Amino acid sequence: MAINAQYLGMALDVNDLDTENLTYFRHCAAHQFHLQQCTACNLLRYPPTTGCPWCASPEARWVPVEGRGSVHSYTEVHHAIQPAFRGRTPYMVLLVDLDTQKGKPTPDEAIRVVGNLTTADGVLAPPEMVRKVGIGTRVRMVFADAGPGLAIPHWTIDEGGQQPAKPWRYPQE
Ligand SMILES: [Zn+2]
Repeated sequence: MAINAQYLGMALDVNDLDTENLTYFRHCAAHQFHLQQCTACNLLRYPPTTGCPWCASPEARWVPVEGRGSVHSYTEVHHAIQPAFRGRTPYMVLLVDLDTQKGKPTPDEAIRVVGNLTTADGVLAPPEMVRKVGIGTRVRMVFADAGPGLAIPHWTIDEGGQQPAKPWRYPQE
């Protein structure tokens, strides 16, 4: 069944044919993080898709994965393109290396999952929190409910994690 929901007043639709994303977001709606695991080579992949990027097999199973990792890179948005974000700048978009499968199948690889930086309850992070986060910050996944059948996976600072003394940030003016 298709998903028709809203996030910050913007329509978010996943249609009937997009079975991979429907399954992915069905798990997110239950506040669970699941990824496809290839049944031929056993590697996980993200984002959800029809074939394995490593061995091209179309066969996969859904498995629970720990939503925890380190910031690989980030962007801090000061000029919102989407009108819904205009009153919410600066906000932060994170690219996170999951702990699971880091360094496989080559030392430079990781499953890198995109999400906004939010508070622990899934609200876009305030500026003082944005300023604390940089490359290396330990984060955990949280889910923001976006209507029936949909929750958006985001990232928040992992309060119990071993944080770097000074996460790397772009030089500020
Ligand atoms: Zn594979």
